[in-house]
Formats: sequence, C-alpha cells, structure tokens
Amino acid sequence: MASSNVVILGGGFGGARTALVVRESLESSHRVTLIDRRETMHLCGMNPMLVVGERDPATTTRSISRLAERGVDFRLGEVTSLDLESREVTTDTGVVPFDHLVVALGASYDWSAVPGSDSAHSFYSFEEAVRLRDEIAGLRGGTIVIAAARPPYKCPPAPLEMGMLLHWLLGRRGVRDDFDLKIFIPEPAPLGVAGPDAVARVRAALEERHIELHTACGVVEVSGREASFSDGSSLEADLIVTVPVHRCPGVVAESGLTEGGSWVPVDPDTLETSVPGVFAIGDVNVIPIGEGKAIPKAGVFASGQAETVGLLIASRINDQEPPPAYDGQGECFLTFSDSEAALVGGTFLAPDGPRVGLGEASQEAIRLKEEFEQDWRRFVI
Ligand SMILES: Cc1cc2nc3c(=O)[nH]c(=O)nc-3n(C[C@H](O)[C@H](O)[C@H](O)COP(=O)(O)OP(=O)(O)OC[C@H]3O[C@@H](n4cnc5c(N)ncnc54)[C@H](O)[C@@H]3O)c2cc1C
Repeated sequence: MASSNVVILGGGFGGARTALVVRESLESSHRVTLIDRRETMHLCGMNPMLVVGERDPATTTRSISRLAERGVDFRLGEVTSLDLESREVTTDTGVVPFDHLVVALGASYDWSAVPGSDSAHSFYSFEEAVRLRDEIAGLRGGTIVIAAARPPYKCPPAPLEMGMLLHWLLGRRGVRDDFDLKIFIPEPAPLGVAGPDAVARVRAALEERHIELHTACGVVEVSGREASFSDGSSLEADLIVTVPVHRCPGVVAESGLTEGGSWVPVDPDTLETSVPGVFAIGDVNVIPIGEGKAIPKAGVFASGQAETVGLLIASRINDQEPPPAYDGQGECFLTFSDSEAALVGGTFLAPDGPRVGLGEASQEAIRLKEEFEQDWRRFVI
C-alpha cells in the first residue's frame, strides 16, 4: 500500500483530536502532520470562570507540540496559502504536500467591524479575559454592559454565562447592589437554538438575578464610555465588554473553500468540502440545521466532527467501511456560579430534526465541566 500524507491545519479542539484519531488508526508508514502557529493552546471555555477568579491559567493550557510524542509530526508555522489543485499547503517555513487535508483553523476576530471595540474589554481570548479579571477587581460600582455584535459567535451561551457569573461574583463580594448588569445580544431570543422552554428559563434566570437582557440588539460602536446598538439606542457604562465579530480566517477564504459564502460549506455526513479529500471541521465550517440556524461554533462540535473525519480518512486509506455519518451531537455548559451549571445541547442532526434543550441547573454539571476540562488537557476531547 502506498504511503499517504494526512495534513491537518490547526491544533485546537478539532485539529488535535483529528490528528490523534487518524494517527491511532493508521500504520506508521503513513504520515500525519499537524501545523499550528502556536505551541500551546488555552481552553477559551474557561474564560468566564477565569474572569471571576475561579480558574488558574496554568490549568487551562495544553501543549500542542506534545502531540509529537504520540506520532504526529507537529510543525510550528503560519499557514499562508492553500493550493487545492496542486494539493499543497504553504507555510512561512515551507511547503507541505497532502493527499488528505483537514482544515481546522477556527474563526478569527474582526475588531474593526465594531469601531472602538478594540479599546473596550472582552473575554473571547485568554489575554483579554485576564485583563478583564484585573479590571473588575478594581471596580467599586456602576454599569457593566456585555454586548455581542452579530452571529455567529463561539459558544452562544457565553455572554449569558458571563453575566450570571459576574452577578455571582459581585454578590459574593457583597457589592451586587452597587452594580447594574446589562446584556445585549443580536439574536431575537437567548439560546433560541434550544427551543422555547430554554428561552423562557434563561429569561427567568436573568430576571431573578436582576440582569437586564436586550435582544435583537447587537453592539455596533463603542466610543469611550458609550456603546451604541443596532436598534439606534446607546448608553453610557463604566465597563463595556464586547463579543467580537467572527470571520472565516483569510487564508481559508482566499483558497475558494468558502464558495462565496462566509464559512466553508461541507457535506454534513462527512464534513468533506466540494474538493475531494479536503475536509473542514469546527468553527471554520457551516452546517445548516434549518430555519436559518446552524450547528453552533463550540469545541464539543469541533471534537465530534474530528472523530468522524479522523475515522473516515483512515477508512479510505485502509480500504475499510466508512464510519457512521456525523450526528451533530454535543452539549455546552451554562454556568451560574462556582456550584451550579446547566447543560445545553443535544443532537443537532437527528433524522427527525434537531433534538436540543437546556438541562436543569445542578452541581453535577459543575463536576462534568471539571471532567471536560481534564479530558481536554489529556487530549481525550
Ligand atoms: C468565551 C468562550 C467560551 C466558550 N465556551 C465553550 C464551551 O463551554 N464549550 C465548548 O465546547 N466550546 C466553547 N467555546 C468555543 C470553543 O473554544 C471553539 O468553538 C473551539 O475552540 C473551536 O475549535 P476549532 O478546532 O474549530 O478551532 P480552534 O480551537 O480555535 O483552533 C484553531 C487553531 O488554528 C490555529 N490557526 C489559525 N490560523 C492559523 C494559521 N493561519 N496558521 C497556523 N495556525 C493557525 C490557531 O492557532 C488554533 O490553534 C468557547 C469559546 C469562547 C471564546
């Protein structure tokens, strides 16, 4: 059997998992290469907990280069272009040919899409989460605004979770009454993807905590202490926290894989793009689920797609039966405090339509969240 080159772009949730699944399923004569611009990766899902002082950055980081110990050829470098015809990837350190390619480069942030937002706060990267944590520690009172710009953005529960956790933190400090908490989201309802029951329960949980929610109201500009919104309104706040506009990485869009759209369309069963043997998984792709909705951008989905793609590529190389079609299964956490969280998600590609919901808040979900974190550090997900 001729030896194959499997090349994976990106060592985040999707890329790292694909590399391990495909490596474990192939003879050592086949090469599995993973390229990333970074050697270490931070678990963004823990950023809201980090902001409220409930996570140590040292335990929410993993080393991508450690994949080399498990037979993956790790290359540190910036991917600068994809040539899908000659089947080559160019990086700032050389050209890498491929037989099978998995694009798992995630989403990039466009701060210029909301003028002034780069001077506000955020929690969508590790560095910003640390800066926000330090800023909040010094605040004595006032109005805090958490505002998303436009969908899609990673982990749709995250702005809601950030608000709930700030409520909990300020309460624990005994200063909750000195603050107004306001959340602005562009969607018509919070967690609409999880159905009307979830929407009603999230609204009730926010009201109970006196957190003001504004829907269909994305942030469009930040100017000093003033935030302006898509409905024409604006307000002054002591702290403005934004969720950036997400875009497909430039190198992917330039390759033509987005086919004129914003994200890479794929076959929902196999995650294969329109180019045979080229797959796109995780935040970089779009998988519609009806009613204008799509599978959310979250690590659990990137990881689930990685399992399917890793097994599928290996089955093609080994000339075996393909794995079952991807089912869109996954759940995210909506955390309320250090002792209470709920799971939101389900099976997005069930044959009779998405089966998605919001579970009850419990301490058990906190335990599952900690398990998720440990599994992530050990590359199990
Ligand atoms: C605040 C917040 C909370 C979240 N909470 C959750 C949660 O509770 N549960 C959950 O499942 N998900 C959560 N997520 C979402 C999750 O982090 C992402 O959906 C997930 O990381 C996507 O995985 P991915 O493999 O597609 O991309 P990523 O994990 O982003 O990986 C992309 C990789 O590509 C590399 N890369 C990009 N461009 C280049 C280039 N040109 N050259 C070389 N390397 C490049 C990057 O360095 C990166 O390592 C959250 C995200 C945020 C921001």
